[in-house]
Amino acid sequence: MGISITQINQDTYLLSDNSSKLYLNSTVIFTNKGPIIVDVFRDKEMFKQICNFINSKGWNKPLAIIYTHWHIDHTCGNQLFKNSRIISHKDTYRYLENFIKNHLKRLKVKGILKKDVNPLLPTETFENEIVLDLGNKTLRLIHSPGHTYDSILVYDVNERVLITGDNIIGKEVTFFMPPVIPPDKPDANHKDLEKTYEIISTLNPKTIIPGHGNLIEADKLLSYNKKRYKECLEKI
Ligand SMILES: [Zn+2]
Repeated sequence: MGISITQINQDTYLLSDNSSKLYLNSTVIFTNKGPIIVDVFRDKEMFKQICNFINSKGWNKPLAIIYTHWHIDHTCGNQLFKNSRIISHKDTYRYLENFIKNHLKRLKVKGILKKDVNPLLPTETFENEIVLDLGNKTLRLIHSPGHTYDSILVYDVNERVLITGDNIIGKEVTFFMPPVIPPDKPDANHKDLEKTYEIISTLNPKTIIPGHGNLIEADKLLSYNKKRYKECLEKI
C-alpha cells in the first residue's frame, strides 16, 4: 500500500494514497492537545498507516477526527478509534446514516468496500461554521456546499492551510470532471461550487490540500478547478 507522507509545515502532514487512481488524501494536524485527523481513507489497512504515523509522533489516539463530507472514501477507514470525537456538518450524519442503512451491504457484496468496513457516525455536528480552539491552533470549519451539500472547508487560521475535501481536486484526478459535474445528489446544486470558490479566494490560503490529487501552488490549484468547472458547464 503506497501511502506517502508530505510535511506541509511544522505540525501539518498530508498522507496520500498514490497506489490507486483516486489519489486520496488525509491530513494530520498536530496540536498541543493532540492530533486532528481530517478524513480517514476508505479501509482499515489504509487508516492503520495514519495510526502508525501518529504513534511515531508520540500520540496513541487522535484528539478529534473531522469528515469533510460523507463520501465513503473519506469516512470508512476508521474502525480503530471507536470512541473518537468525530466532527462534521449535520447533513454528513444524515447521509452517512442513510448510506449505512441502505447501501453499505450492497457495496460489500460488490467488493467495492471491504467486508470489515463499519463506518462510524459523527458525534458532533454543526450547521454553518464552528471554530475549534486547540490551544496553539485555531481551526475554522465552514459549511461549503458544492461537491456535495454537506461539504465543509477546514481552515488552519494560523498557518493559512485550507483542507477543501472534494470541492477542490488535483489535476491528475479525472474521475468526476468532466463529463459529470459534482454533485449528482438531489439536495445539492453544482452552482454552489461557485460560491465555495469565492469563499476560498476570500480566505486567501497559503496552501490548499485537495480531497484527491497532488499539491501545487494554492492559487494555481484554485484557478485550475475554476477553469475545469467552466469547461464542464459548457459541455452540459
Ligand atoms: Zn467526495
